[in-house]
Amino acid sequence: MTLANIKCPECKHVQKIEIPKGSCLPFYKCDGCKKVIFAPKNICCVICAYSDKKCPVAHN
Ligand SMILES: [Zn+2]
Repeated sequence: MTLANIKCPECKHVQKIEIPKGSCLPFYKCDGCKKVIFAPKNICCVICAYSDKKCPVAHN
């Protein structure tokens, strides 16, 4: 299992989140503000958008 440090765009809370194998993660729930955070429309997932890692899906 691979973890990423993901930073909430709302409250800036940083938490560890598991990167799913072979798929994108379109949203997650922030432990800080308890909001469900969705990826921006032009980015495939919250891992790519808000964390220090990239999701395992190939990017062009
Ligand atoms: Zn938050």
